[in-house]
Amino acid sequence: KDRTIEFDERKIVEGFLKEIITTDDIIKATCGKVFNLNENIIINKITTDSRKVEKGDVFIALKGEKFDGHDFLGEVKDKGAVCAVVSKFIPNVDIPQILVDDTLRAYKEIARYYRRRFDIPIVAITGSCGKTTTKEMIASVLSSRLNVHKTEKNFNNEIGLPMTILNLKSKHEASVVEMGMNHFGEIESLSYVALPKIAVITNIGTAHIENLGSRENILKAKMEITTYFNEENILVINSDDDMLSTVKTDKYKIIKFAINSDADYKAYDIIDLGQDGMEFKCNISGVERRFKVNLPGQHNIYNALSAIAVGDILGLQYEDIYNGILNFNPGSMRMNIVELKDDIKFIVDCYNANPDSMKAAIDVLNKFNGRRIAVLGDMFELGEFSKAMHKEVGNYLVDKCDVLIAIGEFAKEYYNEAMGKIECYYFINKEEALDFIKNFIKRDDVVLFKASRGMKLEYISDSLIEQR
Ligand code: ATP
Ligand code: MG
Repeated sequence: KDRTIEFDERKIVEGFLKEIITTDDIIKATCGKVFNLNENIIINKITTDSRKVEKGDVFIALKGEKFDGHDFLGEVKDKGAVCAVVSKFIPNVDIPQILVDDTLRAYKEIARYYRRRFDIPIVAITGSCGKTTTKEMIASVLSSRLNVHKTEKNFNNEIGLPMTILNLKSKHEASVVEMGMNHFGEIESLSYVALPKIAVITNIGTAHIENLGSRENILKAKMEITTYFNEENILVINSDDDMLSTVKTDKYKIIKFAINSDADYKAYDIIDLGQDGMEFKCNISGVERRFKVNLPGQHNIYNALSAIAVGDILGLQYEDIYNGILNFNPGSMRMNIVELKDDIKFIVDCYNANPDSMKAAIDVLNKFNGRRIAVLGDMFELGEFSKAMHKEVGNYLVDKCDVLIAIGEFAKEYYNEAMGKIECYYFINKEEALDFIKNFIKRDDVVLFKASRGMKLEYISDSLIEQR
């Protein structure tokens, strides 16, 4: 009995030690040149945000578009930081400094160094649409059995991912992280930090085509998630996606999920419950299993299938996977269905938009009874494809809804396409649109609100909800 206690104590101490980062660790991880630091200090936390610095922190001076962290060294010193990681030595501030070539690179190296202390599976998600939803669904499934660490909100970029990894604790048994990208090399560098055991690619759409030029290139950029894979790793993909279905390799294992094509996890007997979500069957190890996802839209079956696959790969039982999917709740602004008086319903999906998620949301609106009104704003970051993509969405929606209210500069193309085919309105700004919609909506209407993040379209839906 005594020996068990001794063993447990050792585990606790080991866990505690894993979470400790010292200034020597930072030096080791970054291979930086040290100025004015003569002892090895246990640090409180690592941060790139000078406003968040507390006593005992290490500050990483990143250079952004608007700000240069090096300008805040004085402030950081006053707040009690033990040292700063810099790419140029700042002589007039009396704070220990670790000099590196590239502070963002150093931040990633520190996160990778820390990640390697934890022998747990990390599941990484990338793709054009549905990353956050998939991440949350997988985390919900794994949480039924494991202590799960995950990306908070949408912290999926070169700063958000290292920050996420640095929040790992020894109590965690699995981690689910989101990886976003807008240029080549980004997913590779995030994978270098997170060293995922399992990677999920949701789909290959047209988001960020501005920087990458073609869907082939988008596929290539997303596939960087497998850069550090070997035969022990697993790539989980949607085989209904025309680009992903072409992926082949013998370097690692590929697991497929789908509705319309052959797959390891295939949904069938789908029952569309409208706004209450979807029910479907999917075989696991040859046994027919039922699932229910509380989100509307076929795309959420894909998201659920990837969570079923990951849950099964990591050894969870059907009941746990079932409950994880059933209990999943989306965050605000993503396909949030709000019921107002007079049986008016809002589908608030203002978080972000690209051509694929726009179409997916229009499909959801299409399933409702009542007058279906699409309030759609601009989609950004489409570069030279912008006009064509807005036209495509304009064409897509005419058969799927009754009224279009287009708002913004590029949104004029939706209007141009749909005009004469369905009832259409166009506004250049949100204030005018709000004034109009306020008096336009009536009993039994269903109204979809969707646009890119920069449009902040929730201004309209929030104002309308407040007034009612
Ligand atoms: P971001 O690039 O902003 O991080 P994301 O990839 O994390 O986006 P989500 O935030 O999960 O995506 O979802 C954004 C919207 O995309 C959802 O509200 C929904 O309309 C749509 N969507 C979700 N899942 C899918 C999917 N599998 N396929 C197509 N569209 C989807
Ligand atoms: Mg996201």
